[in-house]
Amino acid sequence: MSADSFIPFALPDVGEAEARGVADAIISGWITSGPVMRSFEHEFAEYVGDGASAVAVNSATAGMHLALEALGIGPGDEVIVPTWTFTATAEVVRHVGARPVIVDVEADSLNISIGAVAQALTPRTKAVMPVHMAGLPVDVRALRETLPADVHVVEDAAHAMPAVGPDEHVGDCRYSSACVFSFYATKTLTTGEGGMLTTRDEVIADRSRIMRLHGIDRDAFDRYTSNRPSWFYDVVAAGFKYNMSDMAAAMGRVQLRRADEMRKRRAWIAQTYMNAFRELPVQLPVTVPHGQVHAWHLFVLRLTDEGPVGRDDFIQRMTSRRVATSVHFIPLHSHSYWRSLVEDPERTLPNAVAQAPKAVSIPLSSRMTDEQVERVIDAVTDSLR
Ligand SMILES: *Cc1c(COP(=O)(O)O)cnc(C)c1O
Repeated sequence: MSADSFIPFALPDVGEAEARGVADAIISGWITSGPVMRSFEHEFAEYVGDGASAVAVNSATAGMHLALEALGIGPGDEVIVPTWTFTATAEVVRHVGARPVIVDVEADSLNISIGAVAQALTPRTKAVMPVHMAGLPVDVRALRETLPADVHVVEDAAHAMPAVGPDEHVGDCRYSSACVFSFYATKTLTTGEGGMLTTRDEVIADRSRIMRLHGIDRDAFDRYTSNRPSWFYDVVAAGFKYNMSDMAAAMGRVQLRRADEMRKRRAWIAQTYMNAFRELPVQLPVTVPHGQVHAWHLFVLRLTDEGPVGRDDFIQRMTSRRVATSVHFIPLHSHSYWRSLVEDPERTLPNAVAQAPKAVSIPLSSRMTDEQVERVIDAVTDSLR
């Protein structure tokens, strides 16, 4: 790579090993959901641990939709989501006919404000969907403890593979009903497109397995019939087409074996950025105490007022230095579709409103070379001079 080539925002960290895994799946003759998907589910459940089961799907969005459906959430119900997230978190609430209730985040962590959740609870609240923003684990136990027993926690863990919070390995569902990971191309573990739902609740696991494939209950058939004719199946609900193919799962299995190695590389890059930016007019991301694990999916800087430029000029300066940037996120309440759900955001979402214009994400992926990391540091430093 030449010294001034463009540094992309996120390159998927996939190569020969993943290609061989996918090729093996193709050559096996079984390319859609089958034995490789099942192995991936078992290995993933073992990795995030502690007895949760895993249901492979074709996106995190699909997994979150299935979780809410399995919990029986529907019209008349409310689901609390942070404004600082991708639209998928709120969109699935709409897909089941419920109402997303958009709440504020903590100014420092950008994770959902547990105090704001407590204030937003009503008798119609059926679930809360915390997002482990950038891979920084939410204290799900603390959140759980503020909620009535009949309010579910469904974790949006799209950024959190792997992450360990104060009391849980994200995905073990010790304090939640379900947890959903994303394997989208830019995420920390990728299958191109894909996702994984984990849960300790066998009712949710069973229902999700049925609903991810057209509402076909093959297990019931397996359980209750002997002498099964191979053509028989029973549809028990109007399900979805959310299953993961064996080709995608084959990539996922290789990525899972590399999860720790990739995380360590991202953590090293994040620490290198931290050290390099200490004196700059920026607010650095929150880190985790010893014993917890940050997945470092994203490195989000907040530009402070002492700096020479605002966020938009900063992005232009970075682009002219041939370094890509991104914004995570344009909060939900700023989008045309979601705006009407939030009254007076300055008053109701003060932290998100204050932080939104300052946030910018710089490249962070395990595929980055040391030289690229240095170039990003130089570009950020020069841009803020
Ligand atoms: C990427 C992302 C999703 C959606 O993941 P898909 O696998 O693309 O459906 C959901 N929530 C957050 C916070 C994300 O960043």
